[in-house]
Amino acid sequence: TVVTRFAPSPTGFLHIGGARTALFNWLYARARGGKMLLRIEDTDRARSTDAAIAAILDGLTWLGLDWDGDTVYQFSRVERHRQVVESLLASGGAYRCYASQAELDAMREKARAEGRTRLYDGLWRDRDPAEAPPGVQPVVRLKAPLDGETAIDDQVQGRVVWQNENLDDLVLLRSDGTPTYMLAVVVDDHDMGVTHVIRGDDHLTNAARQKQIYDALGWPVPTFAHIPLIHGPDGSKMSKRHGALGVDAYRAMGYLPAAMRNYLVRLGWSHGDQEIFTTEEMVAAFDLPQIGRSPARFDFAKLENLNGHYIRSTADGDLLAALDGLLPHLADGAALAARLTPDMRAKLLAAMPGLKERAKTLVDLIEQARFVFADRPIPLDDKARALLTADAKRVIAGLIGALAPVAPWTAEATEAAVRQFAETQGIKLGQVAQPLRAALTGRTTSPGIFDVLAALGKDECLGRLADQAG
Ligand code: GLU
Repeated sequence: TVVTRFAPSPTGFLHIGGARTALFNWLYARARGGKMLLRIEDTDRARSTDAAIAAILDGLTWLGLDWDGDTVYQFSRVERHRQVVESLLASGGAYRCYASQAELDAMREKARAEGRTRLYDGLWRDRDPAEAPPGVQPVVRLKAPLDGETAIDDQVQGRVVWQNENLDDLVLLRSDGTPTYMLAVVVDDHDMGVTHVIRGDDHLTNAARQKQIYDALGWPVPTFAHIPLIHGPDGSKMSKRHGALGVDAYRAMGYLPAAMRNYLVRLGWSHGDQEIFTTEEMVAAFDLPQIGRSPARFDFAKLENLNGHYIRSTADGDLLAALDGLLPHLADGAALAARLTPDMRAKLLAAMPGLKERAKTLVDLIEQARFVFADRPIPLDDKARALLTADAKRVIAGLIGALAPVAPWTAEATEAAVRQFAETQGIKLGQVAQPLRAALTGRTTSPGIFDVLAALGKDECLGRLADQAG
């Protein structure tokens, strides 16, 4: 069975590239009835933080990417890593190297001068450890093959070949006894039964070193798939300005997890020209060979449009729940949450069909829903204030009379009353609707005005109109 893993280093937030890597691993495993495991690569003790771990777990959960079994913490396996190095020493696959810093520097200089990429000259490869200088803590190096080649058949990059003469005897265990990243990844992937390693192509050169370690241990090598990194819209390296943000930032900007998944899956992977995928469709269609070899470009406008699509196709009640989830992530979220009384929730729900037509993000949606929350007299923006001339205020006074008898208070019934009022006054519907909108929402744009009337309810509407009437 297929076993994939997501192996983030908890030295920062779960960024957008990491989230895509996690999604690809998740999709690949889910489509094949396999497992996706999570391994936190926390061996860099100085830079790993609990806050970063929490952000990663939180981000994955928010995205709906669940993992199988317990989370593995790499640092907790350090004894096992050391044992494996011991076994390699015993089998002759590795050796202790006592070279001093000065000796290493000299080797490096020489290699550079001779144009060699293999820097270490094999000083301790075959030397008798009895010759070890006293008091020196050695590193342990892999006894890597000196000639021939190391190759992987990458599912995205194709066959990638390295000449062994260019690859150093890499360090497996540092002189302080801590295992290197290269060694830990191989041991963990092996012990966790990982069959497919899907990760960013910044790890491609590591794959050569890891392949050598697998070979030295006589372990089966997993299938590799190295995905091109995400670039900015202009093709340059992704920066914050381009959207190189944590998943939590996208959450706070009001993106829906389903939209994020859909956006991320199309970053570097395609299935014909299909743009919109339900999660089931993604799972069914996803495969490694359709991942492109050139970097995907991040495109905020595309993400916004997708999000708008998902907002429109989300049920009103579910959107309200998504808003509840978003509030703790907003600066004034606590104040907004306090205003969400059951009565207010009912109004918001009633206004939702009109609100969601326009919103690209949940933050947008809240912004446009401000009129629902506003206290009387509601604040007017400059355009709305300019629109409420003495004439307009007289129209509003008249409207109060026309609307007061309406029952039941529905969009249709209020529309009929407003139309009739305009007709008897001999003015255009627009000349009534515009002041009405300004008085009810404090703005000159809003969802459909009759939907606004219905959502706010009769008492609130008549009150707001009275506040502005001349
Ligand atoms: N911990 C590595 C990273 O966050 C990933 C290692 C791997 O996937 O093999 O970049």
